[in-house]
Amino acid sequence: METQILSCSCEWLELARRYIEEGEVVAFHTETVYGLGANALSDEAVLKIFELKGRPADNPLIVHVHREYDISPLIDGEPPYAAALRRAFLPGPLTMVYPSTGKVSKYVSCGLNTLAIRVPSSPTAQEFLKCVDLPIAAPSANLSKHVSPVTARHVYDDFNGKIPLILDGGACSGGIESTVLDCTGKVPQILREGLVTREMISSVAGECGVYHAQNGEKPKSPGMAYKHYSPRCRTAFFNENELNEAVSLYKEAEKEGETPCFLCESDVCAQLFGFRTLDLGGTGEVMAQRLYDLLRKGEKVATLLIGIEPKQKGGVMAGVRNRMHRAFGVEHGTEES
Ligand code: AMP
Ligand code: MG
Repeated sequence: METQILSCSCEWLELARRYIEEGEVVAFHTETVYGLGANALSDEAVLKIFELKGRPADNPLIVHVHREYDISPLIDGEPPYAAALRRAFLPGPLTMVYPSTGKVSKYVSCGLNTLAIRVPSSPTAQEFLKCVDLPIAAPSANLSKHVSPVTARHVYDDFNGKIPLILDGGACSGGIESTVLDCTGKVPQILREGLVTREMISSVAGECGVYHAQNGEKPKSPGMAYKHYSPRCRTAFFNENELNEAVSLYKEAEKEGETPCFLCESDVCAQLFGFRTLDLGGTGEVMAQRLYDLLRKGEKVATLLIGIEPKQKGGVMAGVRNRMHRAFGVEHGTEES
């Protein structure tokens, strides 16, 4: 199968609609990362997503809809705070988890009685979703466990020859996946941190918890239990106080014929003058935007990628730090709870 990368013109949107109606999988731009979409009402189409990605069968998918789509048949009620959050943040990088009515394919939620719904703000995503006018199940458009894609080229690198079409909307401005928010309880609870932060949610809903699976408990958001976002090279991870150790490792690796490279925030890069570095930037928003692109660059230019933990915490950094910990295989603690 030939994989075409096409812009979001009427002609190509029509082609995308035809593919979706035929049960095919189409990749599309969103403001967070590229998605791998299929008709959420079709078992066969949804299963194709799992097969293409090599995604574990217990990791549920988010359903994407356009801004005018009526989600009420899909969900079994919504608490008042959820309506307020929808008005405040949608369309945008916030996924809301509701009690499900079971109208979409059972494979979307992988046996959970909840459904995750997202209304992306990307014009490409909106036009695509309006054109198909169906709920579209879509995980990030990367092979399972690989780094999420933030350009059409990244999607192509993982799925060339496997999907017919990538709807190109340019580089993703957000850069990390949406915030996943459980809206089934009295108080909203973050299952995955992202660009809509705990602080932003609290300011609208009054309160907002952050969920951390207890030992032995079945996780509420199964996807968060997996190692994720991993570059395909050896990695190491240090905090800002361990810079000397990180430099020793770099030098040792180089002596042994490896090509090490640091991934760190701008002011740490400045201290590492003369070493190979990838610059994450200086603010949470910029770090979110650059992280996945740099992880994919890192795996191409280095055999050992050495991550240095950024200093800032809270806000968008909660999501950035979470993704870095997962990419570098560090257990994610409860420091931000
Ligand atoms: P991805 O689309 O690859 O970014 O992953 C989707 C994320 O949303 C995973 O972490 C899933 O576990 C989570 N998710 C999807 N549906 C649900 C749901 N019904 N309840 C809780 N988490 C969900
Ligand atoms: Mg993903």
